[in-house]
Amino acid sequence: MKPMFKYVVAMIVLTLVLISPAGADDSGFNRMIAQAMADISTAKGSTDLLCLTNAPYVRSNGQPGIDYLKPIQELTGCSVGNQNLLFFQRPQFYPLSITLFRGSTGDAVVMTMKNKVFVTERLELSQSNLSSKAFWKGTDGLACKPDFFTIASIAGSWALGAPYDYLKCAELHNHLCPGVSSGYLISKMILDKYSLKQGERYTMISSPIWCKEDAFQVLLDLTPGKRGMIVKKLTQEQKERISVENPAGMLLITDKKTGAGKGVAFSFDFDRMRELAPKESPKVALVFALVDYLDEPQRFVTVAKEFEVSKKMAQEMITAGSNPYDVAGLTTPQN
Ligand SMILES: [Zn+2]
Repeated sequence: MKPMFKYVVAMIVLTLVLISPAGADDSGFNRMIAQAMADISTAKGSTDLLCLTNAPYVRSNGQPGIDYLKPIQELTGCSVGNQNLLFFQRPQFYPLSITLFRGSTGDAVVMTMKNKVFVTERLELSQSNLSSKAFWKGTDGLACKPDFFTIASIAGSWALGAPYDYLKCAELHNHLCPGVSSGYLISKMILDKYSLKQGERYTMISSPIWCKEDAFQVLLDLTPGKRGMIVKKLTQEQKERISVENPAGMLLITDKKTGAGKGVAFSFDFDRMRELAPKESPKVALVFALVDYLDEPQRFVTVAKEFEVSKKMAQEMITAGSNPYDVAGLTTPQN
């Protein structure tokens, strides 16, 4: 038997005709959820059960996905307050996806809407399966494949006891990855080392850009719309001239009245992070390994430089057309 067949076991695919979730208790939708719970041997109200869905964000066949949430909550007992009802962001046109997952075993049923019907897939998403390359190869034909990394990374981390504020980052970012974890760790260092004093504000200079920016939005409420986050893409040449090792953005802490204050340049050590999981393992294995280190930002994040910032300098750093590292004096001279 080829290894990939060994891993993708007990996978039953069913299709069900869609019936409105607002219908009677014996609707097809309710029966599907009840069957999914029976398939993974769980009962209403179990704290070992996770429901993970994009329902609040998507519209399926013109119907808001949120309409499905009430029956899901009633049938599963999963709730936000119990931290076992998690959402992930998708665009409105994206197919509705509902996963019921049993943390202690990894047993899962994933229900994905395709052409007005739900495709139900029974999967074994144990830590060992998800950490195996062969298992991932066997998932290519799944109806839930476009959501598979999302489901695997979030459900697997939830089962390992990942903190709720980290899972909130996953909701916005729609998956967990080393990149968004780096943003979580940098945010934790900011909250710990650079707490705001009365009359001060943060501005994050997100440059270079990667997944980390979505964690800043969740943990620090620094959003581009409220000008708390200034997102600036750098060219390869600009990146190479930064004198800070492994640059991971700069935080400005300025007085709301005077506009002057302090700048902090951060470094993030991805090499150190990668050591946590075998090189050849799937990306999600590193995501799982990281759960144990989320309260140790100093292991990966360092303050490369603190510098004084005048109002003029802060304005220059955030304005289009400038390289903020040039303005901060953190670049090598141009050739
Ligand atoms: Zn990411």
